[in-house]
Amino acid sequence: MAKGDRCNFCGRGRGDVKLLLSGIDAFICDDCACRANDVILETKRLERNAAGVISMKDIPSPRAIKEFLDCYVIGQEDAKRYLSVSVYNHYKRLTQNVTDDVEIEKSNIIMVGATGTGKTLLARTIARLLNVPFAVVDATVLTEAGYVGEDIESILSRLLQVADYDVKQAERGIVFIDEIDKIARKGDNPSITRDVSGEGVQQGLLKLLEGSIVNVPPQGGRKHPEQKLVAVDTKNILFICGGAFDGIERHISQRMNTQVVGYTAIRNTLHIDRTDMLQYIQPQDLKSFGLIPEIIGRLPVLTYLRPLDRDALRRILSEPKNSIVRQYRKLFEMDRIELTITDDALDYIVDKAIEYKLGARGLRSITEDILIDAMYEYPSSGNSVLVVDKQYAQAKLEKSKTFFLAAAV
Ligand code: ADP
Repeated sequence: MAKGDRCNFCGRGRGDVKLLLSGIDAFICDDCACRANDVILETKRLERNAAGVISMKDIPSPRAIKEFLDCYVIGQEDAKRYLSVSVYNHYKRLTQNVTDDVEIEKSNIIMVGATGTGKTLLARTIARLLNVPFAVVDATVLTEAGYVGEDIESILSRLLQVADYDVKQAERGIVFIDEIDKIARKGDNPSITRDVSGEGVQQGLLKLLEGSIVNVPPQGGRKHPEQKLVAVDTKNILFICGGAFDGIERHISQRMNTQVVGYTAIRNTLHIDRTDMLQYIQPQDLKSFGLIPEIIGRLPVLTYLRPLDRDALRRILSEPKNSIVRQYRKLFEMDRIELTITDDALDYIVDKAIEYKLGARGLRSITEDILIDAMYEYPSSGNSVLVVDKQYAQAKLEKSKTFFLAAAV
């Protein structure tokens, strides 16, 4: 590149810009490239808005959705199938002819499964595929209007923020409400005391789930009382709820007239897999747990996630497209260091995640602890190869904080 080269858009010379990219017969500087990118994105956004509805050809088939999920989420076959079909149906709703007599109803989803089994990951992966705004909100912070905590409408503020305040885009987005079990009714008798973070919130959620026009404070919270409310129609927003529902197995077995532990029940329950009762979950179990029937009715798709066994954890480490191993390998690659983690080291990481009862979330923290010294030393050491075997992993982990924390428990 010669010294006299200039950006063909703004005319600034090579010395006046950070970066000058060359084309066949022209140059563009980093500023102009960014501006061009903004213009393209804005044009695409306007086009999408002008189109109004999504067309059938834009929607991947349930099988294609499931195959996409397979690239990122290990196991959980049932949940993936349910999600694929209901997301597909949801988007069919968006394309439907509004003047038609047959109106397809909303297919909000509820996923039940222990923490760290992939509920958020599933919802996030679906949103990535569909390229729609996606917000994760935590139901534990929600309270009835007027009490300390966040109002129900803040769920939609989050979605608006993610959609860059483009209301039309937000109105076809996906919201993942995590820890929905935490707003279960506290007791059987709802009227003894005010249950501001339980039944009250469920009542508030109803109007969001069923589809109505909600006035949303765009900045969220109550700190900006002067902000102008934005009307958001939730008719086409897909709500996916997730929760661990700790102890729901008891309600399931009670309903099935079996006992989780018990000698006499064994004979009648031979065909029932009592190690994983969640697979038999039914809407009435959610009711026994404390969700009000109206909420359950508005979450018509109920599915469950299986606990992750050793084999699943091992696969999670290395198989998904953005698996933990691949991520670390990439980090080292950026410093031109080739990282290899041997099979016995991977088995060791899985063993420790199980031993410390950390589940899938623990895989990352354990791997991080093993690699932290190398990530500190290697970039300035001149070494270009790092092989992590079981011995190396064990030595590093035993001097790490995870090890001490786990040992202290
Ligand atoms: P949950 O929402 O069920 O509590 P997450 O989806 O947040 O759990 O999972 C926590 C982390 O564990 C994820 O970021 C992911 O790396 C990993 N993980 C959990 N389950 C799976 C799975 N089935 N396949 C791949 N990774 C998983």
